[in-house]
Amino acid sequence: TKEKKLQLLLNKLKDEETIITQQTNVKSEHKPHINLVIVGHVDHGKSTLMGHLLYNLQKVDKREMHKIQKESNEIGIFFVLFFFTYTFFCCCFFFYPYFEQLMSKGTFAYAWVLDCHEEERVRGITVDVSVNYFETKCRRITLLDSPGHKDFIPNMISGAAQADCAILVVSAIPNEFNSGFNKQGQTREHAVLIRSLGVSQVIVAINKMDMVQWQQEKFQNVQAELASFLQEIGFPAQKLAFVPVSGLEGENLSTPSNLKTLRQWYTGPCLVDLIDVLEPPSQLKEQCLNKPLRVTITDTYRDAAMGGAVLSGKVLSGSLINGEQIVIQPSSLVTKVKKVANVENKQLDIAIVGDNVQLFVNIKDEEEFVQIHVGDVICSPQIDNASRERPLVPCKAFECKLVTMRNMVMPLCRGQEMIAHVQSISASVIVKKLHYLIDVKTGQVLREPGKKVLRHVKANQTAVVTFQVKPGYFFCVDTFEQVKALGRVTFRRDGEVIAIAQITNLSW
Ligand code: GDP
Repeated sequence: TKEKKLQLLLNKLKDEETIITQQTNVKSEHKPHINLVIVGHVDHGKSTLMGHLLYNLQKVDKREMHKIQKESNEIGIFFVLFFFTYTFFCCCFFFYPYFEQLMSKGTFAYAWVLDCHEEERVRGITVDVSVNYFETKCRRITLLDSPGHKDFIPNMISGAAQADCAILVVSAIPNEFNSGFNKQGQTREHAVLIRSLGVSQVIVAINKMDMVQWQQEKFQNVQAELASFLQEIGFPAQKLAFVPVSGLEGENLSTPSNLKTLRQWYTGPCLVDLIDVLEPPSQLKEQCLNKPLRVTITDTYRDAAMGGAVLSGKVLSGSLINGEQIVIQPSSLVTKVKKVANVENKQLDIAIVGDNVQLFVNIKDEEEFVQIHVGDVICSPQIDNASRERPLVPCKAFECKLVTMRNMVMPLCRGQEMIAHVQSISASVIVKKLHYLIDVKTGQVLREPGKKVLRHVKANQTAVVTFQVKPGYFFCVDTFEQVKALGRVTFRRDGEVIAIAQITNLSW
């Protein structure tokens, strides 16, 4: 099987290479696949924008849209009636701001294409990560819409952890832009998170341009502020693109806008044209060959027809074929993969890095099934030094090179507790040792003369730190050098991201 697998892998890699360099007349199944996550501050218009885009690309039929629009208006009207009765009795101007918010429910129609659950329709926010598919001329896209609400950051992380590229939606309205970009804003927080999760290409959709009369100056202000911030947190300038749009009016989304006011100063690509040239995940070969098998689990369910279970996930490194033995960590369950399929349930000969897969496994026993959780990692049970194949083991402590956020208020000190996130894995950890600071520009180690130990790490500093995993948590991760996707950590304290890091060493 080892030789057969290698042959399948080499063939697949050869195919992928020819497809990626080809740009036109690509058959659907040959188009490179990209996982695209939409992020941005709540209410900046992510759902409306993507809903409208999917509608334009005919992913939602007119009847369905009409139904959604009707329901949306009904709820809007209901809220308005309720509101009027309420205000009448209360006679209170105090509630005026709510009025505006409730009125706008009717315009949620496009957003509802994405926010499909009943509860979300009523609340008007995207709670879970919703998944949609569409195709452009040269790309197949899996769209992950993540919640912008602050309480849902862990869901957002699990959405972004699966992404190759991102669309950052920001409002062009100065007040709204500022509230997303201030210390507590999610524009800032989401940008940091997606970068720390390994996303390097971002399309910034500067939205609600209709509300600022499509003024070039407003667009340029947002672009200038964001471009410098995004580069500061590590996005390469050549991988950033900015596009003026209106999600509500559908301008400049799937076709270049004909609006005179915009045409005067913008003749660049529309949103879909930018999606069409996103680069598929690179260094495929290196990540498939000579790297251990790692698949993060994003969903699990029982499959009565097959008499087993289905594990959905994303291949982070290595490759996997039908019939292969796997071990699921941290539970150490060993099982056989009966079928490897893509998200549309089409059987694959081999799954490689970047593929979103469904694995049909031989787990029948309920007791075994309940031991598998979202965030677990599928590995190969084999140990082979040449191919660096080795299953993950939960670590007790890890050393990492971290960068603290500019807005971190309290410095890092020994003994402090926080949450560490890697992909969908999270654990409570404690600062065990602060080793030394690093000068980011020169890479030199900075030690204060006469002082052996580092007392604290302040905001916007780079340091090498060891963390201890609290008992009861299973933290199955790799070093960054081994598997990048499993070696990037995001640290949160009191609900805020305070640092991002690369794991340099593990101890078990
Ligand atoms: P999300 O929280 O980022 O998903 O934002 P929504 O898509 O739910 O939009 C929030 C509000 O902004 C809704 O009232 C939308 O109708 C409105 N909105 C979204 N996009 C636009 C736009 O391009 N122009 C205008 N004028 N309003 C918009």
